[in-house]
Amino acid sequence: MKIKNQGCRRVPVNKGTTILYGKPFAYVVRSVVRDERCDHCLQSKPFVFALTSKNRTTRCDNCLKSGKLSKCSGCHYVYYCDRYCQKESWSIHKTECKYLKKILPKILPDAARLMARIIFKLNQGGADEVGYYTETSFRKFKDLMSHYSDIKKDPKKLEHFTMLYGVLVQFLGESLMPNAAELMGIYGRICTNCFNILDNNMNTIGAGIYLGASVIDHSCTPNAIAVFEGTTIYIRTLKDLPSLDWSQIRISYIDLLNSTKDRREELQSSYYFLCDCEKCKHVDSTASAAACPNSSCNSPCIIKNIECEKCNTSLFDEFKKTFEEVTDFTSHHLEKMKTMAYLDVSKMCLKKQKGVLHKFNIQHIRTLETAHIAAINLECWEDAELYGKELIPGYLMYYGEIHPLTGLLYLTVGKIQLHLGKSIEALEALKTANEILMITHGDKHSLLREELRPLLSQAIMDSNNI
Ligand SMILES: [Zn+2]
Ligand SMILES: [Zn+2]
Ligand SMILES: [Zn+2]
Ligand SMILES: [Zn+2]
Repeated sequence: MKIKNQGCRRVPVNKGTTILYGKPFAYVVRSVVRDERCDHCLQSKPFVFALTSKNRTTRCDNCLKSGKLSKCSGCHYVYYCDRYCQKESWSIHKTECKYLKKILPKILPDAARLMARIIFKLNQGGADEVGYYTETSFRKFKDLMSHYSDIKKDPKKLEHFTMLYGVLVQFLGESLMPNAAELMGIYGRICTNCFNILDNNMNTIGAGIYLGASVIDHSCTPNAIAVFEGTTIYIRTLKDLPSLDWSQIRISYIDLLNSTKDRREELQSSYYFLCDCEKCKHVDSTASAAACPNSSCNSPCIIKNIECEKCNTSLFDEFKKTFEEVTDFTSHHLEKMKTMAYLDVSKMCLKKQKGVLHKFNIQHIRTLETAHIAAINLECWEDAELYGKELIPGYLMYYGEIHPLTGLLYLTVGKIQLHLGKSIEALEALKTANEILMITHGDKHSLLREELRPLLSQAIMDSNNI
């Protein structure tokens, strides 16, 4: 299921299912440069990256594109578009090729592949590579935060690390292995600094370390986002800022479709800090709110209260009981649908939620997502359009008006409407998608050039013919 795509989230390696590999860097002297194409954007090639293993045979190990591929005749493990991609990848792949050859048909865990690539790279002089984040300031790999002492106290991370250590000893042999402390330094730097590399649909297809971009701090109301073209990261500001001052630029490391409590817990357990951004200073009760029992009132109700704060309708015990039941039922099924969304199950949850969960309740929005995705997978286009449209207010609320996921949702809804012959509505949705994605991706991005623009042209033609 392609539910969560975290635009600009950095996803902790122990959560992401895949961390894979990448591309050489040796020719990148300055890894963050001002993008000549726009004033709101910085771009950078990765220090190290890796394609996710689930895309191993369907995407190029060098440029991450899908298409017709040929496998490396040395290892039979990685695939490339052509000789050009193979050549470009060779400076790092030449070392790993012989190791990968030995392990097939087994597959290296994604985090282990990324760590091995870092070990190879550091052995090849990668420790001196610099990533600039201003005209004059730069970072090297050793400058990245490792949270070494936090990780040593974190049983979950330690367990993950021990597993990876075992895998890497087997993969590389003792001679290439750094000592345990060095390896934990590498592991910690990955946990804290790794970006998930996303395709145009915001699905994770790889992971990478970007030296310059790793300097950017987090906010739950970010003023910038990260998008990718191949393995290149683009940090794009969402608002006009007086200057590209990194100390003022914030991206979100996590999925913003979450309550304040869950966001803060995730940031604490993954990145070891307690977020005190503006959004975190306010208690948000809407994320877990009940709908007001008075159907003509749209106010979110806190279930512990005795009445609606707006219209004073009583929240009786029976209503509270139903609310708990629906919440439990929904979270049970959302958990089960993490790997696969089912339309019938989603519809059943939505039916129970009606009049019980508030429209901005996170569980309700997540259920709409599973319904929307399942309907697309089943090609039930009317349902897909319906749930897509219902999702829009929730996305605007949690991701904001200018966000890659909001833009993509409008694009998807527009595309479905075009397919359904609703060309006037499609044109509206695609125009909105265009306005958003022009800011988040820029008009040179392949998402706009190859996907959005052709749809927009078709919608204009179709609506003129009516
Ligand atoms: Zn390629
Ligand atoms: Zn090979
Ligand atoms: Zn925050
Ligand atoms: Zn009310």
